[in-house]
Amino acid sequence: MESRRVYPSCMTQHASQHPEFLAPDTVVVAGGRPDRTHDAPVNPPVVLSSTFVGQGEVYEGDRAYGRYANPSWDPFEETLGQLEGSELPALVFASGLAAVSAALSLVPSGGVVVMPRHSYQGSLALSQDLADRGALTVRPVDIADTEAVKAALEGADALWLESPTNPMLEIAEMGVLAAAAHDAGALVIADNTFSTPLGQRPMNSGVDVVVHSVTKYLAGHSDVVLGAVVTSDPALRTRLLSYRSLRGAIAGPFEVWLALRGLRTLALRIERSQATAMELARKLQEHPRVEAVRYPGLPGDPGHERAAAQMDGFGSIIAITVRGGAEAADAVVEALQLWTPATSLGGVESLIERRRRHANEPASVPEHLLRLSVGIENAADLWADLDRALQKVQD
Ligand SMILES: *Cc1c(COP(=O)(O)O)cnc(C)c1O
Repeated sequence: MESRRVYPSCMTQHASQHPEFLAPDTVVVAGGRPDRTHDAPVNPPVVLSSTFVGQGEVYEGDRAYGRYANPSWDPFEETLGQLEGSELPALVFASGLAAVSAALSLVPSGGVVVMPRHSYQGSLALSQDLADRGALTVRPVDIADTEAVKAALEGADALWLESPTNPMLEIAEMGVLAAAAHDAGALVIADNTFSTPLGQRPMNSGVDVVVHSVTKYLAGHSDVVLGAVVTSDPALRTRLLSYRSLRGAIAGPFEVWLALRGLRTLALRIERSQATAMELARKLQEHPRVEAVRYPGLPGDPGHERAAAQMDGFGSIIAITVRGGAEAADAVVEALQLWTPATSLGGVESLIERRRRHANEPASVPEHLLRLSVGIENAADLWADLDRALQKVQD
């Protein structure tokens, strides 16, 4: 069968308009715009159509039907692909977990996956579910312990990377581990949700497949649930696309439009929230009610040197343990007025959560650990609220 085109033409045409060397903070704004013809819209439209005109043989790359393709996905997929350093567009999914599920489908059936003990709990739960069905075997590791991970890679089919990990903020030695995994014949998948391509590009460290919960920083406004997968390997992308078309976890056109709209301000949001996170982490470290702070930007943090070497920024997630245990931690959350008690992260608003309130959070996460997702509010206001809540709680 002749292949007329692999991707919708609007996308490839558009990508060629931009020189490859644009900086990421330009790409988030300029990526995926419609062609500059007279009276064309500046923003890509939302296309509401479940099917596409066609007759005769269906060729690879034809849209054909709304479960296979939608023009509303293209601008976001093109932009995210560029940001992660791939020449191929990303693939958008109905949720981050649908994207995780697609990436795990690349593991051969019955295969072994080496996975950080402190991965996102949905990824852990899904891989456990697959393990229970005999679809794969999970080897949990301390991802910061490079030698232990290398040892676990023997006979493995895939290495799952998360760095920084959720919620412990451990840093994996990404390049070294990806090379070791390839030596062992394993595929390397990285969940880059916490860092975003502005903080690190895992494919530059040899990672084969990058997964995102677009719900978090990329969309950035806590108003949409969405996921994405990126790879620069055409064969892997074809398998992921086929998985999406057959399993059907596709994104709605409006949701992807919202994600692209959110992505436009990613660089600004990250610059601001990261700077505030650094400031808050420093202050929290000095606070008498705080037992310990994990933030890779702190010079004393166990992951600091690695993070400084492989990341462009330290991110906006802080983990703290509070004096007085789980009860005190809950009381701090309750006393806050500006920070919102909620799960999730990466939105413009600051969120806080005691992670062990979820029954399935790994027991190695301390009971009194609070995860802070720093938003873009005024830093002094955020600190005043935290300080007041911490002072209020006595053990
Ligand atoms: C939230 C999250 C996911 C899952 O994404 P959803 O969009 O909630 O399905 C996966 N990985 C990480 C690191 C996350 O934070």
